[in-house]
Amino acid sequence: MSYDDVEIEDMEWSEELQAYTFPCPCGDLFQITRDDLRLGEDVARCPSCSLYITVIYSAEDFAGGTGKQSLEPSKQQPVAVA
Ligand SMILES: [Zn+2]
Repeated sequence: MSYDDVEIEDMEWSEELQAYTFPCPCGDLFQITRDDLRLGEDVARCPSCSLYITVIYSAEDFAGGTGKQSLEPSKQQPVAVA
């Protein structure tokens, strides 16, 4: 069981840790990186204790942010009006 469910908007981005953080009751911080989120990970763990939280976020916000979009030429189908 996770300690809590936390929305990504309620977490704080840490430049130092390069991770989203949320205060853990033990005094440390739950942490989850952008890469974790991109991989579909939704569990932020505290490095100092065994607690973890479930992060609520929209996968689309992180999935393939820098990914290449295959630009297929759109198949033009002449509309035949019979
Ligand atoms: Zn902790």
